[in-house]
Formats: sequence, structure tokens, C-alpha cells
Amino acid sequence: MRLFFALCLPPGLAAQLAGLAEVLPGGHALGEEDLHLTLHFLGELDEPRAEEAAWAAEALQAGPVWLRLQGLGSYGARGRLSLHAVVAPEPGLLGLQDRLGSRLAGAGLILPRRRFRPHITLARGLRGGPALDRIVAANIGLSPPPVAARSFGLFRSWLHADGARYERLQDYPLVLPLS
Ligand code: NAP
Repeated sequence: MRLFFALCLPPGLAAQLAGLAEVLPGGHALGEEDLHLTLHFLGELDEPRAEEAAWAAEALQAGPVWLRLQGLGSYGARGRLSLHAVVAPEPGLLGLQDRLGSRLAGAGLILPRRRFRPHITLARGLRGGPALDRIVAANIGLSPPPVAARSFGLFRSWLHADGARYERLQDYPLVLPLS
């Protein structure tokens, strides 16, 4: 199964972000319930390895992390661009991603070497052009008050022609006091 760990967004932030990409032509805007911030992408794992990953995350003791947005960005080749909200690399967020990565590596999982650039993808498969440029430019100063993410999850991704569907397999509350 195709798996990834991601922070779950507070409902207010998800609602605010979900509307932004809906007006773009083509592509697939993610619904409020699908928005997430990927911490680690695991790729295809068989069931025993998936269980090891789930256990490794279970043992992690951590508190909520602040999410502070820094505008929008787009990424990818023309004709299949994605639009995302840029998230500030706050120490708490980087620390959680790093600690989870260490636990997963300790459990023998091999993770992609891609540098962690915190973001929340809002839409995929976009053609690009003036409409996309306008939305990015209009939200250059997007910087709502930081909000705390209070859980992360282990998600399964089901690939379909019009985009992926996500299924949350496990939820991991971030319950230690906020620092
Ligand atoms: P996915 O590939 O299963 O990815 C799930 C999550 O893991 C996403 O948040 C993704 O980050 C992240 N991720 C994937 N590979 C990663 C890697 N190597 N390193 C770090 N993080 C990684 O599901 P998906 O991204 O939702 O979409 C799957 C495919 O469907 C994509 O190839 C996409 O181009 C295609 N698609 C097509 C259309 C269309 O209209 N034709 C629409 C949507 C999607 P990101 O958030 O950065 O992607």
C-alpha cells in the first residue's frame, strides 16, 4: 500500500485554504477533508512494514506544532502544476518531522532523500497560466495568525486518473504541552 505520514489541519485553516484553488481551470482542487502537510512519504509498503511504521510513530511523544503560512507557490511542469500554501519552517514543525524520520529510519524504513519543504498542496494537475499566476500574486501576503496542529496521521493513498484519494489509517494526537 502507498503510505505517508501527514499533519492534520485544524478545521478553520482547512476551510480557509480549500476555497482558494476551487476557481482554477482544469486540475483537481483538494477538498477541505483531504488537505494535509506531508511529514514523510513512505511509498509502497507491504503490511508488515506498514505496521512497523505505525508502531514507530506510536512511540513518538510530542506536542502540537505551530503552522504559520507564508503565501502560495506553484510547482511542477507546465500543464501539470500544483498549487500549494507555503508553511514556515518553524522549529517545532522541523523537530517533529526530524524525530518521526529518525524513528522510521530506526525501524528500518527507507525514506526519500527529498529535502523537507513544508507545504500544503491545494490543487494538482493544473494547466497554469494567468489564472494561477493571479492567485499566487493575490496571496503573496497570505499570513493568517499561526494555528496549532494537534495531530498527525498515517494515510493510505489510492491513485486514480483524476487524483489520489486518501484514507486515514491511524491518528496520533500531539498531546504534550505546547512549547
Ligand atoms: P501521492 O503521490 O500518493 O502523495 C501523497 C502525499 O505524499 C502528497 O502530499 C505528496 O506531496 C507526498 N509525496 C508524494 N511523493 C513524495 C515524495 N517522493 N517525497 C515527499 N513527499 C511525497 O498522491 P498525490 O500527490 O495526491 O497524487 C498522486 C498523483 O496523481 C500525482 O502524480 C499527481 O500528479 C496525479 N494527479 C493528477 C491529477 C489530474 O488532474 N490528472 C490531479 C491530481 C493528481 P505533495 O503534496 O507535495 O504532492
